[in-house]
Amino acid sequence: MSWATQDPESFRQSLRSWLDTHCPQAMRDGLNTEATICWGGKNWEFTSKHQKLWMQNAAEVGLTTPRWPAAYGGAGLSREQDKIYLEELARINARMPLLSFGIWMLGPALLAFGSEAQKQKYLPQIIRGEQRWCQGYSEPGAGSDLANVQTKAEDMGDHYLINGQKIWTSYADKADWIFALVRTDRDAPKHKGISFILIDMESEGVSTRPIQLISGASAFCETFFDNVKVPKENVVGEVNKGWDIAKYLLTHEREMISGNNQGLTSGRPLGAVLAQTAGEERLSDASLRAAAMECEIDALSVGLTLERYKDQAEAGAGVGDASAMLKYMGTELNKQRYELMMSAGGSEAIDTDGAHGDLAMDWLRSKANSIEGGTSEVMLGIISRRILGLPG
Ligand SMILES: Cc1cc2nc3c(=O)[nH]c(=O)nc-3n(C[C@H](O)[C@H](O)[C@H](O)COP(=O)(O)OP(=O)(O)OC[C@H]3O[C@@H](n4cnc5c(N)ncnc54)[C@H](O)[C@@H]3O)c2cc1C
Repeated sequence: MSWATQDPESFRQSLRSWLDTHCPQAMRDGLNTEATICWGGKNWEFTSKHQKLWMQNAAEVGLTTPRWPAAYGGAGLSREQDKIYLEELARINARMPLLSFGIWMLGPALLAFGSEAQKQKYLPQIIRGEQRWCQGYSEPGAGSDLANVQTKAEDMGDHYLINGQKIWTSYADKADWIFALVRTDRDAPKHKGISFILIDMESEGVSTRPIQLISGASAFCETFFDNVKVPKENVVGEVNKGWDIAKYLLTHEREMISGNNQGLTSGRPLGAVLAQTAGEERLSDASLRAAAMECEIDALSVGLTLERYKDQAEAGAGVGDASAMLKYMGTELNKQRYELMMSAGGSEAIDTDGAHGDLAMDWLRSKANSIEGGTSEVMLGIISRRILGLPG
């Protein structure tokens, strides 16, 4: 199928007919929540045959990674076609066929910095949902101060020997591979001795330990590296220049997290949830309606700003420092929207087994958005220094 060459209107029509036959009805419930995401990977257990079929159908034509080049199995769509793709998914209320750290973070970094061999090896497996990645950035002393990573990679001639610990590694216990920041030169200035490396989670010496949260469940893990041998070819880009890749990847992560306000990724359109949770009497309350309007207008503004920056980033450099602004606005707004949904639902909304399903859990999860990928305070710091040019 050669969508990439089609004009927007023909593309929309042929995409519509493709979706008609290839997107199962059961995947048209608009849910893209923590519980319904298809993450893929070697050990992935599909929640239904429909979820599997939807992922495979989309992967076959590259629609799990619409903008990635066809040479690696992506759909090679233009920016405009990608927007149409998202609009058409929203029109039929479809779930995203596959979401993953490979798609959001590693893929863009490999496309920009990886060798041809690395692209050929990893990208097709990410596109087909066969390889699940986790992110080994944070350490006990390196969260907001990320460049403080201490996990050590010693040059042993034909390989690196890795020792150290990562923390908050989401889904490390389920991932096949990890992309990690490691210190390859302890004597260099903080930002200059870091490398970006790819590690098979099945390598001897890699272990993970889930971190239990107060809810009893958690995606978080601690990840340990104990004399792990990693081939030298697994370093992405130049040795000791991993900080540039780390920052580039973060701009994609932050842009992705900022998109949570758009309904499509949060899976909870504000108006529909309020109509369901608030009941008719509360819905006629002028202050509730005004707050909902304000949130929706802000969401539209954030969405349009995101689109504007993506258009500007077409040249290939990503959205850069503006990703800090998008992340700050998107995640703070998303928290406000969930606060509104919860307050409209009253005490019933807190009941996780009640009529409102996972709403309470999604509300709690929205709070983590403004921590992961860099906290709101740190985003404000970046905005003030690098965008507004205020003194550090
Ligand atoms: C849901 C979730 C998933 C995550 N998944 C991953 C993952 O998969 N892989 C991974 O590597 N990491 C992951 N993280 C970790 C995340 O990246 C860190 O939590 C985050 O970068 C903040 O670092 P920290 O927790 O060490 O907080 P700290 O850096 O200790 O910050 C504590 C507080 O101090 C404030 N602060 C710190 N420095 C400054 C400053 N310069 N100016 C103003 N305020 C400051 C912070 O804003 C915060 O309020 C995840 C976190 C969450 C919440």
